[in-house]
This record gives sequence, C-alpha cells and structure tokens, in this order.
Amino acid sequence: MENCIFCKIIAKEIPSYPIYEDEDVYAFLDISQTTPGHTLLVPKKHVSDIFDYDETLASATFSRLPKVARAIESAFPELAGLNIINNNKELAYQTVFHSHIHLVPRFTKADDFAIHFGNHTGKATAQEMTDLAQKIAEQVK
Ligand code: 5GP
Ligand code: ZN
Repeated sequence: MENCIFCKIIAKEIPSYPIYEDEDVYAFLDISQTTPGHTLLVPKKHVSDIFDYDETLASATFSRLPKVARAIESAFPELAGLNIINNNKELAYQTVFHSHIHLVPRFTKADDFAIHFGNHTGKATAQEMTDLAQKIAEQVK
C-alpha cells in the first residue's frame, strides 16, 4: 500500500535489520529497541490490524511467532522472558497501521517495558459475565 512505511520496508525501499523472511512474512528489528532484540513480525500483505486478517493470512503470520521467538531465545542465553504484543487501533497504542506483532525480549525487571491490566476480579457479577460472554459468543463466525 502506498505511503505505508512497513510496505516500503518489506519492498526494501527503506532499509531495515532483517531477522527472518519467507513468502508470507518479514521479521525485522524495531527501530526503537525497547530491549535488545525487540523484533517486529509483519505479514507481507498489507492489512491494517487484526480485524483485517482472514484465517489463511492469520495462520501464515501467527504460526511464525514460535520460530522467531526461539531464534531470540537462542541468540540471548541471558533471556529471562519474552512479551508478544499486537496493538490494534490508535486507542490501543497502534501507531503504524500495517499490522505487526512485537516480540520484546525481557532480561530484567528494570527493562523499560510494562503492561498494566489492573485487578478487576469480582467486579462483574456472574450475570454480567454470562451476558458479556453471550454477547461476544453469538458474534463468532
Ligand atoms: P505500534 O505502536 O504501532 O504497535 O508499533 C509500531 C512500531 O514500529 C514502534 O515500536 C516503532 O518503533 C516501529 N517503527 C516505526 N517506524 C519504523 C521504521 O521505519 N523502521 C522500523 N524498523 N521500525 C519502525
Ligand atoms: Zn503496509
């Protein structure tokens, strides 16, 4: 897609630091190395976010995650963990609108990275939980 920075990276019109490539995906270093080895995995086909994938593209893309994750694990014997993040839409911190999955290697608690879920256990009643589940479940196609 025109004016998509990741399409340009995939097409090698913009340089990147390659990790892995095949017919369906490209993995390369994030320009902002949150921790050393912070990697992005992208489908070569331009899709904006998770809502744009069909099952074939999802299989081709997400199935590559363990391969890249294991490469990171092998490359860093000191690795203590790995966060895999996929942001969708601006509110959810997406800034590049070509879908991508972050692999963020973790080394110590001092890494400049955090996820905050909050603990809301017990705030929704059983009836509210049932209604919520049903509301979503009836939309699964
Ligand atoms: P998002 O916030 O959309 O989940 O993540 C977008 C990521 O793309 C950011 O972590 C940002 O550092 C990275 N990024 C933005 N522009 C470029 C670029 O030109 N090259 C590379 N390698 N990464 C980029
Ligand atoms: Zn694109």
